[in-house]
Amino acid sequence: MPNMSLNKVPMPEQQPNIRNANFEEVTLGYTEEMAKEEATRCLQCKHRPCVSGCPVKVKIPDFISLVAEGDFEKAYEVITSTNALPAVCGRVCPQESQCEAKCVRGIKGEPVGIGRLERFVADWYIKNGKNNVQKPPFNGHKVAIIGAGPAGLSCAGDLAQRGYEVTVFEAFHNAGGVLIYGIPEFRLPKSIVAKEIEKLKQLGVKILTNMVIGKILSIDELFEMGFEAVFIGSGAGLPVFMGIEGEGLVGVYSANEFLTRINLMKAYKDDYDTPIKKSNSVAVVGGGNVAMDAARSAKRLGAKDVYVIYRRSEDEIPARREEIHHAKEEGIEFKFLTNPVRILGDDEGNVKGIECVEMILGDPDTSGRRTPKTKSDSNFVIDVDCVIMSIGTSPNPLIRTTTNGLEANRRGCLVADESMTTTREGVFAGGDAVTGAATVILAMGAGKIAAESIDKYILSK
Ligand code: FAD
Ligand code: SF4
Ligand code: SF4
Repeated sequence: MPNMSLNKVPMPEQQPNIRNANFEEVTLGYTEEMAKEEATRCLQCKHRPCVSGCPVKVKIPDFISLVAEGDFEKAYEVITSTNALPAVCGRVCPQESQCEAKCVRGIKGEPVGIGRLERFVADWYIKNGKNNVQKPPFNGHKVAIIGAGPAGLSCAGDLAQRGYEVTVFEAFHNAGGVLIYGIPEFRLPKSIVAKEIEKLKQLGVKILTNMVIGKILSIDELFEMGFEAVFIGSGAGLPVFMGIEGEGLVGVYSANEFLTRINLMKAYKDDYDTPIKKSNSVAVVGGGNVAMDAARSAKRLGAKDVYVIYRRSEDEIPARREEIHHAKEEGIEFKFLTNPVRILGDDEGNVKGIECVEMILGDPDTSGRRTPKTKSDSNFVIDVDCVIMSIGTSPNPLIRTTTNGLEANRRGCLVADESMTTTREGVFAGGDAVTGAATVILAMGAGKIAAESIDKYILSK
């Protein structure tokens, strides 16, 4: 008999007033008993609706039934037959709008905790698994990958499994993309990402860091070096600003810069020497997951007051509900229906406040979201000494402007068809570089499709 409890087995987590002062992981993961209990909530539906919600088609009921039986090693094999980074996805996938959104248990009560179970299995394997990764024999073909984020790494893993010699060229000094420099340690420990990347290296994937393609080497040069195809997974890391007065003041950051200083350069550790202003009062402008990460990080760095300024209402805010809930618990204050109009500075050029206006919601736009409009004579100032802009990012133009034949759309995203083939022969692209800022699992799905297309392309030459 399945366990008909309406609620997921709760996930242990650090207390809000303790965790908002440290960078340790907030959620602590299931024990074996908790995982088995949650797994018995799965009805093993014949039509497997949950699988259709997963961009990489994890065989969800199969792995969950193995968890219920206690065969965690086999469950891991089932998950990794389609998903190269399960410890990452179990933590950061927006499950509520993907696999769990389709789970029938969600019709009445909470869906099965698919993400929590995936994370449990991946963490169990890291501690206890046999780790018997075998490097497949070389098939005689070489492929270059630009960018070691989820798109590039999943493409690299799939090609390496097919026997390709794969070299990943990464601009930063560490592999992982946003998983390393964007998503904070308290949501995704970097040791977990490093372990997932280690498995790819065991498959034979070579990762060369500090290699900015478009500067150190061009795509033409990669072809001259004997690579038969190139995959571009360079993400969308170029921050967008509002264009308001005061954005050049000391104490204004883009969320990407702020989070990179914290994550990649460990600005929160006393024994690391990364310049980051310790602020007393911080305004984060924007309402996505990136804004939540920036606000929660600012709090952990010691800010007394942290405000999230968002121009629509709580109903429209795009961040995951779980992240908003965690942020509120940790003492972040939300200023909904509020929009900044200028940032105020003191005589020395430091931020001293942010002037905002109140907003009201008008009719829905073409995307169905209600358009915010300024309420007249509603200006007010919030005293802050740091402003973090988190209103979006776009792809860096470096690669497309240094490569002939690569087309981009008006948002600067590379043009690629459903098979991830670009407008330049032998060049494939996927992830945020093509879609604009999206999700880890969509980037990984694109990397997988590209690997398939690259395989077909090279073998048909
Ligand atoms: P990226 O992860 O950006 O990786 C691109 C890589 O290419 C980088 O390592 C970059 O250094 C490298 N690169 C760029 N240019 C060059 C070049 N010229 N030469 C060589 N290398 C280059 N998604 C979720 O699903 N869940 C979340 O909870 C979530 N939270 C997020 C929080 C933050 C703060 C941010 C910024 C994003 C978040 N996302 C989340 C989005 C998700 O991380 C991205 O959609 C995903 O990482 C995109 O993967 P990618 O491989 O396309 O690009
Ligand atoms: Fe769900 Fe993401 Fe796992 Fe797919 S990869 S089953 S969407 S948590
Ligand atoms: Fe199990 Fe939910 Fe998938 Fe049905 S839809 S098989 S209950 S996880």
